[in-house]
Amino acid sequence: MALRTVRTDGDPVLRKKAKKVEKIDGAIVSLLKDMADTMYANDGIGLAANQVGILKRLIVVDDGDGLLMLANPVILSCEGSCCREEGCLSVPETYGEVERPEKIVVRAFNEKGSRLEIEADDMLARIIQHEIDHLDGKLFIDTAKNTEKRPKKSPEEKPETQKEES
Ligand SMILES: [Zn+2]
Repeated sequence: MALRTVRTDGDPVLRKKAKKVEKIDGAIVSLLKDMADTMYANDGIGLAANQVGILKRLIVVDDGDGLLMLANPVILSCEGSCCREEGCLSVPETYGEVERPEKIVVRAFNEKGSRLEIEADDMLARIIQHEIDHLDGKLFIDTAKNTEKRPKKSPEEKPETQKEES
């Protein structure tokens, strides 16, 4: 298990666009595993490579239904809209409501290099969109409403009732 340092707001790497992964090799798989370890160690529910200082299009997500490790995620379609509170491991102790599509279809490659299409809704859809935003250099605070500071109770990203985040 290897933990990486989570970069926080103000670090320029969080504002850069990550590059497509050309090949899912051992180094990428090991990075994805480190990202998952880092996410769990911080009680997160999602983490993008930018957040550990690496500009590759890689995300890890666990909405409570199992870990997804994805390379080059692309949103193919989205539907509906809903507004929910989010937080972010890179913007500690800050929460705000973000409006996002409710359902999405995402194409990505898993850690074995297989191409998959995931239909996600609710929390999973929200986390994946939050993480893809990171890959594009965006943070949830860019569009959040009613942002507030409060001590970390449940993490970036850990759902306490219906709180979101990644
Ligand atoms: Zn985040």
